[in-house]
Amino acid sequence: SVEISKVNKFYGPFHALKDVDLSIPPGKVTCLIGPSGSGKSTLLRCINFLEEYDSGEVRIDGKLMGYDAPGRKMSGKKLRQMRRGVGMVFQQFNLWPHMTALQNVAEGLIRVRGLPKSEAEARATDALRKVGLADKTGNHPARLSGGQQQRVAIARAIAMEPQLMLFDEPTSALDPELVGEVLNVMKTLASEGMTMVVVTHEMGFAAHVADQVAFMEKGELVAVDSPQGIFHAPKDERIWNFLRTYR
Ligand code: ATP
Ligand code: MG
Repeated sequence: SVEISKVNKFYGPFHALKDVDLSIPPGKVTCLIGPSGSGKSTLLRCINFLEEYDSGEVRIDGKLMGYDAPGRKMSGKKLRQMRRGVGMVFQQFNLWPHMTALQNVAEGLIRVRGLPKSEAEARATDALRKVGLADKTGNHPARLSGGQQQRVAIARAIAMEPQLMLFDEPTSALDPELVGEVLNVMKTLASEGMTMVVVTHEMGFAAHVADQVAFMEKGELVAVDSPQGIFHAPKDERIWNFLRTYR
């Protein structure tokens, strides 16, 4: 599980996260929603310490992320070790253009996990099959659609066998007709019990797939509730106002 407590983050004088508390249960899907600039990406990136939080705690399975003690950052080696359990998928797919889909997925297994090439490629093939790309393993990114590229990025993350997957608006760079195939892969992962945190503007996905939905505004985590609670009985006017812009 991930326990976020009283997390604060400043960009210079700008207070980007304000005493954020959030509990991410294992095997569940947590969706993070809220207006642009509310701090969703910042919070997500604090979980794997791509963004350094200034106070409070992020604990992954009880272990403090990023720090040995308050104010004392952990070594790069320890950080890399903790990050091993966390996969991340971004809005931009960040694939290597000169590598095939298979090589993109296998690369981390070889470089980071130290697997022999043959074993890495076998695992990469499995991961690509899982995201429905068994027939595209030899394609370079330029020969894949946006949805297929994003599925390669998901395969690359799951091939590392993370305990937790973070998604930051994985479908917002995609043409509308390609969104569904990526959301379907995510639904499958969710149904297999992957712990997921998903920043998304896809309210349908949040409503149907999330176990809990967290709403942020201006650096504050305003509410965490069931999708039913957030979408049908919002307890805070700010949620209501935000959702109105989607209708
Ligand atoms: P969006 O939906 O547009 O992606 P968001 O909720 O993900 O928005 P963040 O990217 O977390 O928002 O940004 C939260 C606030 O922090 C914004 O006001 C943003 O301008 C500010 N911010 C983010 N990154 C930095 C940075 N590196 N330096 C300064 N300010 C930043
Ligand atoms: Mg963002």
